[in-house]
Amino acid sequence: MTGAWRTVIGLETHVQLGTHTKLFCGCANEFGAPPNANTCELCTGQPGSLPLLNERALRLAVRAALALDADVAARSTFDRKNYFYCDLPKGFQTTQYVAPYASGGGVALDDGSFVRLTRIHMEEDAGKAIHDRGDTTLVDLNRAGVPLIEIVTEPDLSNAEQAFEYLTKLKEVLVYAGVSDCDMEKGSLRCDVNVSVHREDEPLGTRVEIKNLNSFRNVRAAIEHEVERQTRALDDGTAIVQETRLFDVDANATRTMRVKEDEDDYRYFPEPDLPPALVTDEVLRVERAAIPELPTARRARYANELGLSEYDAGVLTAERATSDFFDAALRAADPGAAKLLANWTTNELLAATADPDVPGAALDELRVSPADLAALVALVERGEIHSAAARTVLRETLRSGRAPDDVVRELGLAQASDPAEIEAWCTAAIDADPRATEQVRAGNGKAIGALIGAVMKRSQGRANPEVVRSVLTRMLEVDA
Ligand code: ADP
Ligand code: MG
Ligand code: ZN
Repeated sequence: MTGAWRTVIGLETHVQLGTHTKLFCGCANEFGAPPNANTCELCTGQPGSLPLLNERALRLAVRAALALDADVAARSTFDRKNYFYCDLPKGFQTTQYVAPYASGGGVALDDGSFVRLTRIHMEEDAGKAIHDRGDTTLVDLNRAGVPLIEIVTEPDLSNAEQAFEYLTKLKEVLVYAGVSDCDMEKGSLRCDVNVSVHREDEPLGTRVEIKNLNSFRNVRAAIEHEVERQTRALDDGTAIVQETRLFDVDANATRTMRVKEDEDDYRYFPEPDLPPALVTDEVLRVERAAIPELPTARRARYANELGLSEYDAGVLTAERATSDFFDAALRAADPGAAKLLANWTTNELLAATADPDVPGAALDELRVSPADLAALVALVERGEIHSAAARTVLRETLRSGRAPDDVVRELGLAQASDPAEIEAWCTAAIDADPRATEQVRAGNGKAIGALIGAVMKRSQGRANPEVVRSVLTRMLEVDA
């Protein structure tokens, strides 16, 4: 009892596969349908109905495993996990227990550690029991039979931050690979946390499992509280009981749900109605090819090859659509334009997707194509239009879908460098702002900014600001 307390964490994450139909029947796998609309004799557990494995679910499961560097078994089997509950009318959950379809692999964290996966298995979801109607319980079986994978880690994590990062990276990989939307609000990703503490020179401690965590932030908070609770108990000489606890968000604490001795004995046995799931080399090849460059690799490429900041690389890869759009624009652009393209993508375009007045709510729905953005940035880079004018062009392209070069020509937005034209705007700006003019004449160098700004406004962004500055300087010195 000498060493410091060490925390040990293992995570079990359930992810809904983004199929059109359920795992063993043709019912829609869809969120938000009216209760029990997506059900049939099979997923409501009626006698005589027979399951058939969804090929698409198997393929997405395989893709997830490959994206996580796991080994995929050529042959895996299903078992029945027996228990009684109203959201499980069959009386058993069909799941892979003895021979899961994948094992190994893992997720690398930024601190250089690696979270190993023990296994990934396929299983069906249960339905939903709704207990908020007084003494009535309602059952919605739309979710019953929806395909899941459960991703189980080794107890490799040692603090709440690492758990948060692991989940964030896991989700990124699965979303990029098109396996799942991983939307926790829809229940597409659910996570159970196993936590124990022990002295660093002693064997692992007794673990507690925490369920009901509906956000990564709650995972982090629950771990922090549970570690504190366990450490305090052990310091007081109280043993930790192996149990399942729930995280109570309001109380910001975990509380007992059931202790190990009460846990059901599931009496697993092989599912007699399903043949083994077979994964051919062809399926492996196709699914491997469907995995895009993953976010960690993209961030490294953005930083190392394009010289973008860690922050920009993070914003660009937060959503695959943003990164894909940026990469497509990059292919159509001069490599030196990467920083400008990144700025326009993360500032102007992401803002446009959120603007109700701009058609399109996602990058790939906007009327600006990646090639349009590359063309626009090229105009700015070559000095043909000023960036204020470029914003006007972008707004017009976003509205009408017309190519930036055409918009520049039609709106006459090409940067004006003609001194006569610029002088006219400068004269107007000087006349309109005698105060700033006086200050400039009195030697206040900063005041000229107001006049330059006024000229830029009058010229609708067309004036070349460098030329404006020199014209103003000359005019005011002459007048003075
Ligand atoms: P079960 O199926 O009963 O949940 P598993 O053996 O599958 O049990 O373990 C579930 C999770 O618990 C795994 O993620 C594993 O890494 C983790 N785990 C096992 N032992 C410990 C421990 N001593 N402390 C924390 N986590 C643990
Ligand atoms: Mg468990
Ligand atoms: Zn069904």
